Amino acid sequence: MNSSDSDVVLIGSGIMSSTLGVLLKRLNPKLRITLYEVADELSPEASDGWHNAGTGHAGICELSYTPHPEPDGSVNVTKAIDIFQEFEASLQFWAQGVADGVLSRPTDFINPVPHISFVRTEEQVAYLRARHAGMSAHHFFTPMEFSTDPAKIAAWAPLLTESRGDEAIAATKMNGGSDVNFGAIARQLCAWLDAQEGCKVLTGHRVTDLQRRADGKSWDVTTQRRFDDSAFTASTDFIFVGAGGGSILLLQKAGLPEAWGLGGFPIGGEWLVCDNPAVVSRHEAKVYGQSPGAAPTMAVPHLDTRIIDGRKSLLFGPYAAWTTKYLHRHGSYTDLPRSIKFHNLATLLKIGISNLDLIGYLVQQGTQSMEDRLEVLREFYPAAKATDWRLIEAGIRVQAIKQTDGEAGIVHYGTEVLTSADRSVSALLGASPGASTSVHIVTEVIRKSFPDLLAGEEGVARMRAIVPTFDRDLKSPEAASTFRELARPAREKLGLAFD
Ligand SMILES: Cc1cc2nc3c(=O)[nH]c(=O)nc-3n(C[C@H](O)[C@H](O)[C@H](O)COP(=O)(O)OP(=O)(O)OC[C@H]3O[C@@H](n4cnc5c(N)ncnc54)[C@H](O)[C@@H]3O)c2cc1C
Repeated sequence: MNSSDSDVVLIGSGIMSSTLGVLLKRLNPKLRITLYEVADELSPEASDGWHNAGTGHAGICELSYTPHPEPDGSVNVTKAIDIFQEFEASLQFWAQGVADGVLSRPTDFINPVPHISFVRTEEQVAYLRARHAGMSAHHFFTPMEFSTDPAKIAAWAPLLTESRGDEAIAATKMNGGSDVNFGAIARQLCAWLDAQEGCKVLTGHRVTDLQRRADGKSWDVTTQRRFDDSAFTASTDFIFVGAGGGSILLLQKAGLPEAWGLGGFPIGGEWLVCDNPAVVSRHEAKVYGQSPGAAPTMAVPHLDTRIIDGRKSLLFGPYAAWTTKYLHRHGSYTDLPRSIKFHNLATLLKIGISNLDLIGYLVQQGTQSMEDRLEVLREFYPAAKATDWRLIEAGIRVQAIKQTDGEAGIVHYGTEVLTSADRSVSALLGASPGASTSVHIVTEVIRKSFPDLLAGEEGVARMRAIVPTFDRDLKSPEAASTFRELARPAREKLGLAFD
């Protein structure tokens, strides 16, 4: 007989906790799972549709995964291939979720939107041509088209060429891209989880403390109910800290040696949004460009079609912003100061001193005028009119800063799972490529902390009933036909383009 109140506690109702909860429950229907969310609604932070760009990151259009040409002029596309395969796991999980009734109509959360990369200047045109050669040679990206012809680019995305002067431009396009409402997926997954026996999804509950119990194995999780400030403590055998920006503060409470020296560097964001139907109806793509100067990779601007709650609009940005809050809705300006401890002070100072250009960039971005922002937009859409665009806040990304980063003076923008030595706590740190690779990320959590669920032929078969591509080679040249056999039906279920 298990003496803990829950087998699993999930903190946060974003895409990560909700995906992990559903995967675990489907792999082992006996698990008792409790999910706590501080907000009164589900998934209001980074996963919410308006707080991220909704790009199904598949490596198609994001130039940051294939940044520099090699000395011989070729472009290494290995990272783009890896991201594509990681996103494939998410697509497969969602497609199977629709088939199994876990998720509802695909158009409520995913829509086909071509992915375009767009560059200017002769040097960048040569780079994009070489990138296209490398990408289209792989079976993931075979349908990718390349053009330097303004008329062709205008047919793909007319806003890019309208009123543009005579300059060298180039673009690649693939129809298999998508726009994803990660918040809608998370909410549906939470609803499914809440309806399962032995599972609870509790909103309005802030997790305030994590303490190891006297048995040295299980944990006490203290929550505070926002409605009446009452506090409760419940025990569990496993905790997933999927609290987004709030994860670092919670890890510090848990006192894990693995979190020693860890700090968090928040980067806020803003978008320009256009709802004018005359403009919106003329753009049907996600268009990614090159990183401007000191901008972190995540702040590379893009001009996106968004479909949120059945309504189409255009989104441009993100513009980065300096903030000391770790969460948008339920964060506080004291988050960053509160996270500074004697064990991470040196790391944070070193990072700050080594990245003055980044800090300067964030401050400059935050103090921009609307006209400054429109200047950046006009690099993509030269005819953009100020009256068509409004500014909204995007989500906050908290980059985890580890001691090794401090020694190297580098801010890493990737996502990482931190797991305690006894595997009873896992936490997600960082935010890129983020939501798109949620299934890949939480599968790693399951591999580490619930290895029995995936063990042997039985475990693999169980997981493949939920994620059909699980542990299959899709990317080697020999796997091209396996990829097509599995990828096409998933896209058909989700209403996405394949060729
Ligand atoms: C500007 C921007 C653009 C992005 N664009 C993309 C994109 O185009 N494609 C992509 O794939 N990814 C993108 N991302 C990244 C993506 O949004 C995140 O990786 C992903 O949403 C993280 O999900 P999560 O579940 O970890 O966190 P969140 O969605 O932030 O969820 C964490 C939840 O935990 C709750 N919480 C926090 N503290 C507590 C506590 N103490 N107790 C209880 N609950 C708590 C919060 O309220 C929140 O609901 C973007 C992010 C940003 C900020």
